[in-house]
Amino acid sequence: MESIIQKEKKCFFCDSVSGGICGLESHHIFPGSNRKWSEKYGLKVWLCGDEHHRNGPLSVHQNREVANRLKAIGQAKFEETYGTRDDFVRIFGRNYI
Ligand SMILES: [Zn+2]
Ligand SMILES: [Zn+2]
Repeated sequence: MESIIQKEKKCFFCDSVSGGICGLESHHIFPGSNRKWSEKYGLKVWLCGDEHHRNGPLSVHQNREVANRLKAIGQAKFEETYGTRDDFVRIFGRNYI
């Protein structure tokens, strides 16, 4: 499913539409066993592939604080769109807010 976090295809953190040297990449906010739920509910964002997705010091896959901030945003959007906090915790396994 398309992202419910962003309407436009641009980096969630810096608004770049080119995505830098690697281009824009789709990031599923909740990884691992929750990746499929991220996909189902559209909880994903576009990020600059190198700088904000995979490699940079502030990229979501290198920086736990950034990842957790994004998870809180994703959970809030879920609660705004689909259901209660209990619903979220039942599906995703824990509360991030
Ligand atoms: Zn990712
Ligand atoms: Zn960026």
